[in-house]
Amino acid sequence: MVAQNNHVVFAAMREQLWSDLETTCDVVLDGDDHTAAVVARDRLPGLVAGLRALLAQHTPDANGHCRQCRVGRWWHRTPVPCRVLLEFRLARDHMVDRRPRHRLRRH
Ligand SMILES: [Zn+2]
Repeated sequence: MVAQNNHVVFAAMREQLWSDLETTCDVVLDGDDHTAAVVARDRLPGLVAGLRALLAQHTPDANGHCRQCRVGRWWHRTPVPCRVLLEFRLARDHMVDRRPRHRLRRH
């Protein structure tokens, strides 16, 4: 029963976070300049703080393996960078292709 409750709470939290991220991204990319600036100023620092908290968990051990991502026995680990950091970088670079559909007006 506890496990089922945990799944429900986890799913609700995850759904809320995804929804917030989607809404923020949509407004910043497609909203008018004023609304985009207001939402970015309101939510961006919190998103950056959240990312910093997550990424802070992904530090290398003495052998250069991510402490959080390491799985299995040490002799099975491949000498690759942290998968989370790689995914983050790929996702961030991918967003460069999705720039705002209109440019900020110069006054
Ligand atoms: Zn990692």
